[in-house]
Amino acid sequence: MIVAMTADSTPDNVEEVKRRIEAHGLVAAVSQGVERAVVGVLGSIPPDLKDEMELLPGVMQVVVVSKPYKLASREFHPDPTTIQIGEATVGGPQPVVMAGPCSVEDEEQMVSTAKAVKAAGATVLRGGAFKPRTSPYSFRGMGLDGLKLLDLAKQETGLPIITEVMSPVDVDTVAQYADILQVGARNMQNYNLLDEVGQTRKPVMVKRGLAASYEEWLLAAEYVMSHGNEQVMLCERGIRGFEQFTRFTMDVAAIPVIQRLSHLPIVADPSHSTGKWYLVTPVALAAVAAGAHGLLIEVHPNPDIAKCDGPQSLTFDNFNLLMSQVHALESIRNHPVPA
Ligand code: PEP
Ligand code: MN
Repeated sequence: MIVAMTADSTPDNVEEVKRRIEAHGLVAAVSQGVERAVVGVLGSIPPDLKDEMELLPGVMQVVVVSKPYKLASREFHPDPTTIQIGEATVGGPQPVVMAGPCSVEDEEQMVSTAKAVKAAGATVLRGGAFKPRTSPYSFRGMGLDGLKLLDLAKQETGLPIITEVMSPVDVDTVAQYADILQVGARNMQNYNLLDEVGQTRKPVMVKRGLAASYEEWLLAAEYVMSHGNEQVMLCERGIRGFEQFTRFTMDVAAIPVIQRLSHLPIVADPSHSTGKWYLVTPVALAAVAAGAHGLLIEVHPNPDIAKCDGPQSLTFDNFNLLMSQVHALESIRNHPVPA
């Protein structure tokens, strides 16, 4: 952080700035220029320090140089993080495809989908047992019975599981079944949940909130990491725009931006971002081309009768087509050079 003083600030003003900085246990480096003084702040900057400095007499401008998130930042950790999930390396050279139904419905649906997505090349199985629904009257998932069916599908196929946990009180139970704990978009700023998943040593996927900035999203990851859980991946799943035709607006630029700001892997979800099955493959390809480390894709044996998100779910055949096109793109996808 840099505090620039006004041209007519007094030595007492500069002294007060220095005193306040030092009261936080930080180092104040004063540089007296010809026109004005500038004070550099060194150390771990508390979030409210900018506001405190701006209110002091003689202060012209406060510029925050380092990011409010530290553990998640590239500055702090220049090498990319990779997370091993079974045979898949999230953050490695190949995009990892996580596929399965929106929600777990029954044994036949889960096991047949697991086998189909595995045969097509997916290496992680998804399925929601605890579903965040806009209406309280919609199907809200099978809960513990759903987790057991995910486990069954895992036994049958060997595929590791990603599944959502919605409440801090369910974290321990879900962690017994999940290989990746998913924090949904609507819970991205549920700080008690972030604290709780941070206490586990399970990999966590933090989906981007419906209207979250990059900084807010990375601060959500920081919450998890602040408890010592460094296995965090992010997922761009579309944000709220004004367009009603698509369910959300996929922010493809988020993929290279996150790679610039952070060392954490970034996964893309073209299913929830578009809401329409025929948009899933084109948007998945755009995400992979942009450098996504993974894809989260909804697949259902019969999307017409899915209990949740049928219109955006791919049939097995369409998922096969998506996979063949993703493979074709793998060798030319973008590998951004860190800033
Ligand atoms: C999901 O992946 O099942 C889901 C509900 O996604 P989101 O939290 O992104 O809406
Ligand atoms: Mn869904």
